[in-house]
Amino acid sequence: MAIKYANRMERMKASEIREILKLTLQPDMISFAGGLPAPELFPVEEMKKVAVEVLEESGEKALQYSTTEGFLPLREKIAQRMNKFNINAKAEDILITSGSQQGLDFTGKIFLNPGDVVICESPSYLGAINAFKAYECKFAEVPTDDEGMIMEDLEKILEKTPRARLIYVIPDFQNPTGKTWSIERRKKLLEIASKYDLPIIEDNPYGELRFEGEIPPSVKAFDTEGRVVFLGTFSKTFCPGLRLGWVCASKELLEKYIFVKQSADLQTSTIAQIELNKFLELYDLDKHVEEIKKTYRKRRDLMLNTMKDNFPKKVKFTYPEGGLFTWVELPDGIDAKELMKKAIEKKVAFVPGGSFFPNGGHENAFRMNYSNMPEDKIVEGVKRLAEVLKEELGK
Ligand code: PMP
Repeated sequence: MAIKYANRMERMKASEIREILKLTLQPDMISFAGGLPAPELFPVEEMKKVAVEVLEESGEKALQYSTTEGFLPLREKIAQRMNKFNINAKAEDILITSGSQQGLDFTGKIFLNPGDVVICESPSYLGAINAFKAYECKFAEVPTDDEGMIMEDLEKILEKTPRARLIYVIPDFQNPTGKTWSIERRKKLLEIASKYDLPIIEDNPYGELRFEGEIPPSVKAFDTEGRVVFLGTFSKTFCPGLRLGWVCASKELLEKYIFVKQSADLQTSTIAQIELNKFLELYDLDKHVEEIKKTYRKRRDLMLNTMKDNFPKKVKFTYPEGGLFTWVELPDGIDAKELMKKAIEKKVAFVPGGSFFPNGGHENAFRMNYSNMPEDKIVEGVKRLAEVLKEELGK
């Protein structure tokens, strides 16, 4: 067969990492690789009740097609929840998507021609990199420090990148680093985006999972021009299996997302939307989020303390105030992909950092997830990893 594929498929090959990660599915593996929530916290009993009530009360409606924009009562509730991020939204500013991943795909479809440039944090979320890549774009990575993107570097890059088309950021508990942007950087980002007239895509799946302090205002909270597209999701505060996320944007931008959604999949699952809406009526999602935070906070502390006590001193890692991940940096010259092979032999896994840098390099880092493994496995897994690190680096 000599079937011809579209050019974009060239860039969508199975990565070496994906092959290694398949090994993490072995039953006795302690995996810190995925970004999965803790399944034992899913409200299974409540959702049983919700499912029955929805089918009894409005079964025909729940199983029918519905509008592209999404179920109005749910859009209203989401608009209200945007207050948490200091965003004053109405139902008409919200489009319900099939997870925020769909919002990322649509972003690529709306803004990118082949050869256009996405400006992103270095490193950035692998799923976004791959979603944008399908639109045959290039990436300009902006260095980051503990306060977010370094704004002087962003300006320098924008000055010499005429084909920059969008700025993609994850300002709260970034995936993969766990870092959060300062308020000053959020404001400055808007100023620079305004100067270069670029849209900002603010991806915020983790902001509500803050263990310490207050949720800072989002970038969109300072947006007076309507250039910020905020992507939200219920995947981390509720259940990813429902595939429910949203786009919050100004009328002009949201219309584009609605148009693209119509041709992509008509609408998000009606029954999933009505079930979530019913859950929000019957139960207190904020209380549920508090439970998640309590558990993750304990797991973060356990992971970081065990790392501090057992990892060689040359190894550095971040102290996230929330979210799901910590980012581990090894001395220069150490390749986390090679380390991963040795870790897998000891039945412990992480994601090597190189894959989070769209332009390559930076192999001396890896991402660790603390939300998905129970406490005893976190301690055991980190100790196993410490053994591997000590064999490579000494104490
Ligand atoms: N953005 C970021 C930064 C993520 O980490 C994830 C999930 N890992 C997503 C988007 C996609 O999430 P979902 O489609 O489940 O809403």
